[in-house]
Amino acid sequence: MRLIKNGNILFRDELNKMDILFDEEQILEVAENLQADCEVIDAEGLTVLPGLIDVHVHLREPGFEQKETIRTGSSAAAAGGFTTIMAMPNLNPFPDHRDVMEEYLKRIANDAVVNVIPYGTITYGEKGGEVSDMSGMRDLGIRWFSDDGVGVADDSVMEEAQKKAASLGAMIACHTENMEYRAPGASVHEADYAGVMGWKGIPSACESSQLERDLILAEKTGVKYHGCHISAVESIKALRTAKDHGADVSAEVTAHHLLLENTDVKGPDWKMNPPLRTHEDRMALINALEDGTLDIIASDHAPHTEADKNKSMADAAFGIISLETSFPLLYTEFVYRQKRWTLAQLVNWMSAKPAERFGLGKRGKIEPGYKPDLILTELGPESVIDKNSFLSKGRNTPFDGWTVNARIIETICGGRTVFSRKSN
Ligand SMILES: [Zn+2]
Repeated sequence: MRLIKNGNILFRDELNKMDILFDEEQILEVAENLQADCEVIDAEGLTVLPGLIDVHVHLREPGFEQKETIRTGSSAAAAGGFTTIMAMPNLNPFPDHRDVMEEYLKRIANDAVVNVIPYGTITYGEKGGEVSDMSGMRDLGIRWFSDDGVGVADDSVMEEAQKKAASLGAMIACHTENMEYRAPGASVHEADYAGVMGWKGIPSACESSQLERDLILAEKTGVKYHGCHISAVESIKALRTAKDHGADVSAEVTAHHLLLENTDVKGPDWKMNPPLRTHEDRMALINALEDGTLDIIASDHAPHTEADKNKSMADAAFGIISLETSFPLLYTEFVYRQKRWTLAQLVNWMSAKPAERFGLGKRGKIEPGYKPDLILTELGPESVIDKNSFLSKGRNTPFDGWTVNARIIETICGGRTVFSRKSN
């Protein structure tokens, strides 16, 4: 058993001076002035939150270990306050059938520092042709399927995939992208600014047209559907309609789409897919999160090597790293500076809500009986984001040098400390 004392605890959406007693299985007790004959963790001056949950992470292993590994990516997660992350399957080999998934699960069991839950693919090799061995992977406990990185172009394949997932009680999480709208070398949002900079643009319809198709199908098939990294106002409208119609749909937004706009883009470290869109889009994303049209904040942590990024805008890889910056940045902007969100709102979007939507069991809250996944945070004092201090192998971030008012001091996963910034 271990006991956290003297912290400010986020308990039932309120901050209170309380103590938390836990073992490696669960949180045992949350109350004032707890005493127990066990190790005490002093959280004086710190705010204790449930471990954060991220449903969209790229760990790159197996296949792309030069960019990230299960070990380095899950260490970065711990440093960023995440105790459960879901890993996208655009790997080599793709986890698209039972045997590969079984091997992949063994690697995770060996190397992961926090809880890592993998997605299986929707189609074999993410090629969009044949629906993957969902039932074989379902037998291993995998209930989440995604072809992240690419869209599923063929309507009939998407419909078959949705029906199969629905019959297995599984969810499909889609990166929607209609390639008819993406010209070769396109790298940023299609708007005047792209033209001024001499970059090729990607219109919002690239995302929203395929999302609309998926949502109409989801209404028909009854599948549990999740839209990945929503970036455009048109997509929000489509989600609102699907939810109004009673479809079983949810969607996520990333920290970078909540914080940055197309005119902020300075080079490849701002290049991601979907791209940063306009001010109007960004405001619509914030409002949609607040009104429940968007359900979850995810990172879409996408590490790349320096060589992958050190190219022209047209040729550089898409994606930025974000596990170690998402919470500090969002806390700083929306809770500390703007006072637009409460701490509880932000934490719910990053813990309880993803746990609930993805059926991850008793995670994401500080409650007796819940998983002993906790983070000790320092809220208020200023620090500066330094990409060279990251545990991720990636350095591809547009946020290097930004000032934040939140730091993760200690991360406890499964009752054990998996990350600590304390000097002693
Ligand atoms: Zn994606």
